[in-house]
This record gives sequence, structure tokens and C-alpha cells, in this order.
Amino acid sequence: MNDCVFCKIVNKQIPSYKIYEDKYAYAFLDIAGDVFGHTLVVPKVHFKNILEVDKKYLEKVMQAVQKVSKHFVDNVGCDSVNLFVVGELVDHFHVHIIPRTKDDGVNIINELKKQENMDFEKAQAKFRLD
Ligand SMILES: [Zn+2]
Repeated sequence: MNDCVFCKIVNKQIPSYKIYEDKYAYAFLDIAGDVFGHTLVVPKVHFKNILEVDKKYLEKVMQAVQKVSKHFVDNVGCDSVNLFVVGELVDHFHVHIIPRTKDDGVNIINELKKQENMDFEKAQAKFRLD
């Protein structure tokens, strides 16, 4: 896709802070600049989102996510990583890796507030996949 910023990053038309690259996946720092080492992992081919990403690329991207995550914990000194997929801001499938240390004060689910009287049975009835 010509106007996709992540395709341009993968194709080196836009510079990025590369963290990892293989045949199928490319990982680079998120320039949001919120968490030190916040990394995005994308397939090297354009897929809009989780609904459209090809099975092979999904597998390869998740393998890259695991590889980078292991590196962060084994070699970089992180205690763990948080992963999330938003799928709204940029129309090129990507997984966020947030490097975590025990006392970093980061809470990526801050905006998800516990609701009183959550009806789990109703939610299960609506969302269950049989
Ligand atoms: Zn793209």
C-alpha cells in the first residue's frame, strides 16, 4: 500500500529505529515515546488488521514478537513484557511490545475500568465461540 506509513518503514522509505528484522517481520521503536523500548512488530506485507492478516504472516509475526520479548527479558534486563494490539490507529497489522520492569509504574490497562454488576453470563452468551 503506497500511503501506508508502516509499509514505508518496512521498505526503508521512512527511517525507523530497527529492533529486529527477518524475512517476514520487522520490529521498530514506536515513536510515541511513552515507554522506553516500546516496540512495534509488523508483517513485511501489508495486512489491514487481525481480521485480514494471512495465517502464515500471523504465525511469523507472533514468532518475532516472542523472539524480541525473550531478548528483552534475557538480555536487556526487563522483568516481563506486555503485549497489545489496538488495530485502529494505523491500518497495518501490528503488535505492541511494552518492556516492563517491576517498579516502572506502567499500567497499560489503566483506561479499562472495572464495571459494577458485570453480567458475565450475558457476555459469554454474546461472545462465546463454539
Ligand atoms: Zn502497510
